[in-house]
Amino acid sequence: MTYDIAIIGSGPAGLTAAIYAARGGQQTVVFTGQARGGQLVMTSEVENFPGFAKPVLGSWLMEEMIKQASRFQAKITHDYISQILVKTDGFDLQSGSGSVKAKSVIIASGASAKWLGVPGEDKLKGKGVSACATCDGFFFKDKIVGVVGGGDSAMEEALVLAKFAKKVFIIHRRDHFRASKIMQDRVLVNPKIEAVWQATVAEVIGRDKVEAVKLKINQAKDQTLKLDGLFVSIGHKPNTDFVKDLISLDTKGYIITRERLALESLSRQPKLDVAKFKFTDSRYPHMTSLDGVFAAGDVADYRYRQAITAAGSGCAAALETMEWLEEKS
Ligand code: NAP
Repeated sequence: MTYDIAIIGSGPAGLTAAIYAARGGQQTVVFTGQARGGQLVMTSEVENFPGFAKPVLGSWLMEEMIKQASRFQAKITHDYISQILVKTDGFDLQSGSGSVKAKSVIIASGASAKWLGVPGEDKLKGKGVSACATCDGFFFKDKIVGVVGGGDSAMEEALVLAKFAKKVFIIHRRDHFRASKIMQDRVLVNPKIEAVWQATVAEVIGRDKVEAVKLKINQAKDQTLKLDGLFVSIGHKPNTDFVKDLISLDTKGYIITRERLALESLSRQPKLDVAKFKFTDSRYPHMTSLDGVFAAGDVADYRYRQAITAAGSGCAAALETMEWLEEKS
């Protein structure tokens, strides 16, 4: 069969797109990817998604979205798309278990954690090095752990870890955090959490498990900090490797939508070399450089990266995709 809309990704963007597309009467398939439910499944509590006065678990919220999409007959497939082929009548989406045909595609494949790339990090992943306190924090009861980063994610990781560990160091390369004030305040008043300012991790030390990190403080003297675990929380990179030869991406790998190009064209200091891109028709703001392929959520959002903005763009992408399909038919 040929689906009307194939959605790649099952975070708030992909699942909101699925709810709108399936409820709009389109034959819809969602490929969940490896991380069913996306990044929110890795977070602990979500307290800024409208509609929930009390904090809710990220994993619970995503399962509810999956149920909601399924209620409208969206097909949820636990598969990972490795390639999209352009055909005369639409697209072939290739996965480990075969290929699926669709008239249009919404890419909502999100973003993945970035790593430091220092010696010892790779070897000790799963042996004390982690990017998910919610998943692994439990193993560090009464231990000493470090969190690298100064954004909201690092604050969140530190607060989760402080529930288990006896001491949490936040290792940050500047002398101030970039996280929101409310998150910073929670961290800075927590007696278990201590900031190590202007410090970068040069090496993770340990034979079979993390034992310490070598820090460069103020870009000068080295210092060894004894730790049982290291949580890397330095941001994310968009999951766009599988479409890098198909559609236009910016230098950081984010998908360039028509809306983004139109906005950058109006900016006095565009972040893109606007003249390089030829797709100027912006009737479909969420369409990528390729007709019939749309993008939603963190995969195209270099700026906000919030669950609610992802959900909003998923809704818009689905509405535009339906309009585009109707115009073509
Ligand atoms: P982020 O805001 O980009 O912060 C990344 C942090 O890692 C920055 O402090 C950065 O340092 C540091 N960093 C980057 N590369 C590094 C490296 N190689 N070595 C050492 N440090 C490095 O990423 P995020 O915290 O994942 O947040 C992403 C978005 O999600 C943000 O918009 C955030 O507000 C949102 N978010 C919101 C919540 C919430 O509302 N509760 C929770 C989580 C995330 P510099 O500061 O020096 O650049």
